[in-house]
Amino acid sequence: MEKIRLGISSCLLGEKVRYDGGHKLDRFLTDTLGKYVDYVSVCPEVECGLGVPRKSMRLEGNSDSPRLIVTSTREDMTGRMTAWSQKRVKELENESLCGFIFKSDSPSSGMERVKVYNEKSMPAKTSSGIFAKLFMEHFPLLPVEDEGRLHDPGLRENFIERIFALRRWREALSDKNIKKRLIDFHTKHKLLILAHSPRHYQQMGRLVAAQKNFAEKDIYKQYQDLLLESLKIKATPAKHVNVLQHMMGYFKEQLSADEKKELLELIDHYHDGYIPLVVPVTLISHYVRKYDEPYLSEQVYLNPHPSELQLRNHV
Ligand code: SF4
Repeated sequence: MEKIRLGISSCLLGEKVRYDGGHKLDRFLTDTLGKYVDYVSVCPEVECGLGVPRKSMRLEGNSDSPRLIVTSTREDMTGRMTAWSQKRVKELENESLCGFIFKSDSPSSGMERVKVYNEKSMPAKTSSGIFAKLFMEHFPLLPVEDEGRLHDPGLRENFIERIFALRRWREALSDKNIKKRLIDFHTKHKLLILAHSPRHYQQMGRLVAAQKNFAEKDIYKQYQDLLLESLKIKATPAKHVNVLQHMMGYFKEQLSADEKKELLELIDHYHDGYIPLVVPVTLISHYVRKYDEPYLSEQVYLNPHPSELQLRNHV
């Protein structure tokens, strides 16, 4: 698989582009996730022509349409940043991005909960940074996160699962025999999608079954939208348990009573939060290999992202 292309706020890569000439290097993003990713670095403040170092800015006024103000001089940079951002998001259409990682709290790059100051200079509301807001409006379903939220293991897992899924989907789209690839993609992603949203899985299934009734472009757009919407929905322990029990059903004949009891206990312990998801998944993967179970061996659910990222290891 080719590397995943991800947009990222430049300072997270260690580039010295912050207002004070510093950076905000994030080692997980560069050293760990970076092995699988080609980053497209974006620093809105430098790229729109403000130098390094520069005076600090903040959001002020109405949280629906805040102004970007230089704190010390009161200069209003909103128009300049907005015009540059509108041009930059158009350019980013050509980058095949599978997502974007924003720098938290920045009045330009912050994804959410960026402070908006009132006329008394108090942080009264929150909003998104000017560039981040325009990016998310332009690419409404593209996976986005900020580096602060990515410290939460559940949010990290969800984001990385989505960018890998989108990469696989883009790869399927580039296949000449896309009709067959759509069925294949849908089949292999069944359990992964069910762990997030059984409702979306049904909708996507109806779309795949009726693909000859749609123009090609429409069906792939609709399928991609449903895929991204479904994976954004949190995969709860209860939904994972349904998937795990469903997989266990494939080994009714092969497993002894003791083995079934052991696996059920692991699934219960996972459900109760005593052990991470990786434990029952690893045992099931072992049975899939041991008994050469063809349908499950193809399921992306068992291996949605590289195990080196250790994403299913949290309780
Ligand atoms: S937060 Fe955004 S604007 Fe600020 S230095 Fe980082 S990339 Fe540049």
